[in-house]
Amino acid sequence: MSLDTTIRNVQSALGTTVDGNPGPATWAAIHTKILGKKPASSAGLDAIIRAVQKKLGVFVDGSPGPATWAAIHLAVTAKKAPDVPKPSDQSAGIGSGKTADSRSEGNIVTLHPRVQPFARALIERAAGQGIIIKATSGTRSFAEQDKLYAKGRTIPPIGAKHTVTGAKGGFSNHNFGIAFDITIFTGSSDPEKAKTPVYESPLYKVIGSIGTGLGLDWGGNWKSRVDEPHFQLRPAWAADMEEPAMLTELRKRKDIGKDPFA
Ligand SMILES: [Zn+2]
Repeated sequence: MSLDTTIRNVQSALGTTVDGNPGPATWAAIHTKILGKKPASSAGLDAIIRAVQKKLGVFVDGSPGPATWAAIHLAVTAKKAPDVPKPSDQSAGIGSGKTADSRSEGNIVTLHPRVQPFARALIERAAGQGIIIKATSGTRSFAEQDKLYAKGRTIPPIGAKHTVTGAKGGFSNHNFGIAFDITIFTGSSDPEKAKTPVYESPLYKVIGSIGTGLGLDWGGNWKSRVDEPHFQLRPAWAADMEEPAMLTELRKRKDIGKDPFA
């Protein structure tokens, strides 16, 4: 991704050379603006950048990325950065991208390409904590969703306890490639051999916090119907939307062939 416009805007606002390539002069001006004083003459570039990051409350690593530049842009120009994407639906740097176990991969490939690395990263990070999870559900067509909805309603056995979903076709996030469900498995430390599903476990909350840390929505945080196995990647445009409004827009986009993340 390009930060070029963001950096040039900052340089322009500070009156330094506008070249999109921030050096000591730009960083000294940023430091002066944000900390209210010039950097010490003995301070190296790394120390200056870290001091700026610390003051802005972003991750202090001396290596300014999109989050640092977004914060600088806002502080210097009082406007949101133009070419810094919201972090919510971007997957850069969240995992190694290596493929998961075969069952998970079978479901992951049904997801929108933007969502796939999030599912793999969740599985990888859970494994890093010694928890084997698999993606056990991915994308469903409207017809498949309708069939699930019919279970317990028109498909016997009939009865509330036999229903499996409250969503008809087009009314589940699973119908648009943005959602997947996971299940914890035990029985082996090798994910291919771990075949015993665990449906109730406090470890789902651990997975939930890993997922939200990656930027995923977690069904365990839902108020009306808690759904701990459920994760979804919320498109940036839906950041402040309630679920029904987001689904309405997703259906509209599907009708006209517009990408859910465009
Ligand atoms: Zn789900």
